[in-house]
Amino acid sequence: MLTGEIKDQIRARTDIVDLVSTNVTLRKAGRRFVGLCPFHSERTPSFTVDRDRGLFHCFGCGAGGDVFDFYMRTHNVTFPEAAEQLAKRAGIEIETTPGERRRSTETETLFRALDAAARFYEGNLAHPETGRTARAYLEQRGVDGATMSRFRIGYAPDGWDHLLRALRGRGHADALLERAGVVVPRANGGHYDAFRHRVIFPILDLQNRPIAFGGRVLRDEDTPKYLNSRENPVFHKGRTLYGLNWAREAIRKRGRAVVVEGYMDLLACHQLGIEEAVATLGTALTEEQMALLRRFSAAAIFVFDADEAGRRAAERALPIAESAGLQARAVTLPDESDPDTFLRARGRDAFERALEGAQPLFSFGLALAMRRHAGTTPEEKIRIVDEVLPLIATVRHEVARAEYLTQLSQRLAIHEDVLRAQLRAVERTRSDSGPGATRSREVSGHAVRSVARRGAGGRYAAERQLLMRMIDEPADRARMAHDLLAADFAETAHRDLFGRLSQPDAELNRIRESVSSETRDLLERLIFEERPAVVDIDGCIARIRDEQRKEKLRELVARIDEAQRAGDADAVRALQSEIQRVSSAGGQAAGTTPVS
Ligand SMILES: [Zn+2]
Repeated sequence: MLTGEIKDQIRARTDIVDLVSTNVTLRKAGRRFVGLCPFHSERTPSFTVDRDRGLFHCFGCGAGGDVFDFYMRTHNVTFPEAAEQLAKRAGIEIETTPGERRRSTETETLFRALDAAARFYEGNLAHPETGRTARAYLEQRGVDGATMSRFRIGYAPDGWDHLLRALRGRGHADALLERAGVVVPRANGGHYDAFRHRVIFPILDLQNRPIAFGGRVLRDEDTPKYLNSRENPVFHKGRTLYGLNWAREAIRKRGRAVVVEGYMDLLACHQLGIEEAVATLGTALTEEQMALLRRFSAAAIFVFDADEAGRRAAERALPIAESAGLQARAVTLPDESDPDTFLRARGRDAFERALEGAQPLFSFGLALAMRRHAGTTPEEKIRIVDEVLPLIATVRHEVARAEYLTQLSQRLAIHEDVLRAQLRAVERTRSDSGPGATRSREVSGHAVRSVARRGAGGRYAAERQLLMRMIDEPADRARMAHDLLAADFAETAHRDLFGRLSQPDAELNRIRESVSSETRDLLERLIFEERPAVVDIDGCIARIRDEQRKEKLRELVARIDEAQRAGDADAVRALQSEIQRVSSAGGQAAGTTPVS
């Protein structure tokens, strides 16, 4: 484990300008350095480095971070590897405890056992007799010899203990093989092979080491059709994407990843030149998988099935990809085909053309719903709204939500206010359905209140200026934390960042490391964004208060409306005097300096 202290030491001893200069030609521009972004292609420099803060940020593609992030992305390594190499570069020794050393030897023996298993399977596939059926199967599916050896495809022979005996003979303990997931304990003692008479696809980590296996049946009566080895200390399903080790270079070069579902889809993609493909192996997509992809590219195209399962998969993928900061698009292939069958039948060019037609995930979901229900009668529109609103409700980014509502309103010719009210209802049922479903964004029942903020005369700008000030002037933080509450901020990420910055001794690097990716992006953006020469703190706060009052008034007006319809005269009177009170409070604050 790396302590925060060691991380700080590495940061302190690594000049980010020096480090970046090994990849990017930088020139000085004021307090900062600028150059052409190494993570997207551009002609005018939008890649900026702040030497004092040890951070970089690209205004073009949004890439950003510290020395570790830069090193990880340019060298395609994991965080521990980056730390180790940067420590070496800075002449810092990373001490390991005896416990860590023991764990690392245990991990090494596990890696050796997994590799021995992979070699055993490969050897069996290559064997003229033993591997005949499996090779014939692969050839019939179009997998050529080069692909078989590149992807280290193997064969687990038919029988109960071929692997067990072979690996035992090479000195691997039964218990270790069990931990590796290649043998399974028998109820009454002893072990047997986990994979029998199956084609084996080893799953490799980013250092090309086998960490797990997938096996496909060769006899129709065997089940399940695909079997994955269970998790072990080096294999966590939710953090793994099959094929990323082979795809990562192509992903970086092409600036996108293609996400498919199965082993055969992935092999077909790579064999036919779509080398930026990775596979999810049918497990539910996780945020960790998306964050992993995000290290290599900001964009991903998901290839989904054109059926109900595909719609559900898109619905799950949308919020996950968005919160990882990926520009995600989705495509379905015609005639219900999967990438494997499509590529082999119609070739690479047709597949590329299909990928070009990929749509943003939300539009994709909307298009699927529109295709299913024609969308002209009121009943059909209701069905579409019912399908699509839950999709919007999962999106955390406020601007994106507002945009999606507008799109839906336009496509269905339904007034946006109606949809917004409906969305609130959807959200309410969601947050009622359990603690896991609650999100931090609801405030006094007005979950989508910040949607209108662009027209709100600069409340958004006011919030950002206050946050910038807190970033630049730690001395002012206490005062702002006294005058404002996190709930005063309309945006989730603003609120979160304000909470963090309110801690008197909050260090920017610590905040960066402990917040959601959305808040981290915001923080980095605010550090680098241009700010006004003078920030009128009181003016900004007044602007926020003013907007809060307007919101309150809107809410009261809506409630009066309801009360009138219900014929509740008492409630109407009470609300009217409340409106009086709120609007006269606003009058006192009139004349405050506008912010923009
Ligand atoms: Zn960039």
